[in-house]
Amino acid sequence: MPTSSETPAATVGTDGAATKLTANNIRAALDGLLERRTDQTRLTSMGAGSDDLDDGRAYLAATVDGGWHVPTWPATHGGRDASVAENQLIGSVLREYVVPDLYPFAIGLGMVGPALLAHGTAEQQDRWLRPIASGAEIWCQMFSEPEAGSDLANVALSAVQDGEVWRLGGQKTWTSRAMWSEWAICLARTDPDQPKHKGLTMFVIAMGAPGVDVRPLRQMNNDAHFSEVFVDGAVVPDAWRVGDVGEGWRVAMTILSHERAGAGSRGGGDGAKRGARVPTWITDLAALGALDDKVRRDEAMSIYAADMASRWTAQRAADEARSGGSPGPAGSGAKLRTVSSYKRRAYLANRAAGAAGMLENGHGHIETVTAPSMSIRGGTDEIQRNILGERVLGLPGEPRLDRDVPWRDSRKGML
Ligand SMILES: Cc1cc2nc3c(=O)[nH]c(=O)nc-3n(C[C@H](O)[C@H](O)[C@H](O)COP(=O)(O)OP(=O)(O)OC[C@H]3O[C@@H](n4cnc5c(N)ncnc54)[C@H](O)[C@@H]3O)c2cc1C
Repeated sequence: MPTSSETPAATVGTDGAATKLTANNIRAALDGLLERRTDQTRLTSMGAGSDDLDDGRAYLAATVDGGWHVPTWPATHGGRDASVAENQLIGSVLREYVVPDLYPFAIGLGMVGPALLAHGTAEQQDRWLRPIASGAEIWCQMFSEPEAGSDLANVALSAVQDGEVWRLGGQKTWTSRAMWSEWAICLARTDPDQPKHKGLTMFVIAMGAPGVDVRPLRQMNNDAHFSEVFVDGAVVPDAWRVGDVGEGWRVAMTILSHERAGAGSRGGGDGAKRGARVPTWITDLAALGALDDKVRRDEAMSIYAADMASRWTAQRAADEARSGGSPGPAGSGAKLRTVSSYKRRAYLANRAAGAAGMLENGHGHIETVTAPSMSIRGGTDEIQRNILGERVLGLPGEPRLDRDVPWRDSRKGML
C-alpha cells in the first residue's frame, strides 16, 4: 500500500506523457536540482535585511524546465499544467528543499503571472510569463499613489492615447522592488469623466524607458526596497495594455486577491516542513534558553498552532486562486492571520533576546522592525477587516459617496 505521500496525485508530464506524480518521483526530479534542507537551514522573511537576488535567480532557473515552482501555469510558460492536488503535493515536497527568499521575484510569480493568465493576450503571455518563472525578469506593482492607497480607485496617474501608443504621466509611491525591476504592472486613469472605478486601465510599463524615474526610499529596517516612481511622458504601446480600456479595476482586483492569498504561502517560508520537524524559529528560541520559561513556551506553542492554521488557510486560498477561482475574502482572512503570526513570532524572539535585541544584529531585531509594515503592505489590516465585514459577515457597507460621481468632479478643488 502506498503511504499518503505516495498516493499518486494525478497524471502529469511536461512532455505530455501520462506519468503518475508521487512524492518520490518529485523528490527524484528535485534531488538533481536543489539541495535538501537541514535543521541548520536559515530562513529570511520578505527580503528583510537582504538585497541578494542571486539565490532566487539560481533556484528559479533550476526549477523552470520542470515547472516546479509555478506548477499550475501552462508547461509552455514555465509551469507544468498541474492540477490543484498536484500543486499541493509539489508544494509539500518542495518544503524539504532549500527554497530561498523569493521576495524580489514575488510580484511576477504571485501576482502578475496569474493576472496575465487571466486577462493577458496570447502574445503577452508568450513574452512575459517564462522570464518571470525563470527569474530572468523582475516585476513591480505600480498601484499606490500619495492620494490613492486604501482608496486605490482614486489613482490619478494618467494615460492618454496617441495612435498606437499611450503617454503616461504622474506619480506612484511605495513601489516595492522598483529598482530591481525590468517591468511594472501599472494602474492608470484613462477616463477622468467616468466614476472612479470605471475610468481605469492596466498597462505594462518598461522601468528603463525614458520618462520613468525611480527614487528608492529608506525604511526603518534599513532596507531601501520600495521607491517613489515619477512618470513623465513615458510611452507604452497599446499592445502592452492588459485587459480592455476601462477594465483596469477588474484586473487590479485579480492582482490584489492573489497578493492577499499569497501572503504566507510558498517561498522563503518560516521553517515548517512536511512532517513533525520543529521550525527553526522555535529551535532558535530554545537555543537562547527562551523556552525554559513556561509563559514564553506557552506563547511559542500558541503561535505555532496559529501559524499552522494560517499556513493551511493561505494555501487553500492560493489553491483556489490557482484553480481559476478568486481567493476573495478568504485571501483577506489569510493575510490577517499571517500578519498576526509574523508579528507575534518577531516580538517573542526579540523580547527573548533582552537588551541585545535592540542591536541591529540582535535576535529578532530585523523581523521586529519589519513587522509593522506587514499590516500595511498589500492592503491594511483595517481594509482586510472591512472586506470580511462586508463580504463574509454581510455587515452594511461603508458610505461611498463618490462611487457614481465622475472622478474629475470628486477631485474638484484638487485638480
Ligand atoms: C512595505 C510596503 C510595501 C509596499 N509595496 C507596494 C507596492 O509594491 N506597490 C504598491 O502599489 N503599493 C505598495 N505599498 C503601499 C500599500 O499598499 C499602501 O501603503 C496601503 O494600501 C495603505 O495606503 P496608504 O499608505 O495610502 O494609507 P491610507 O490609505 O492613507 O491609510 C491610512 C490609515 O487609515 C486607515 N484607513 C484608510 N481607509 C480606511 C477605511 N475605509 N476604513 C478603515 N480604516 C481606513 C488605514 O487602515 C491606515 O491605518 C506598500 C506599502 C508598504 C508599507
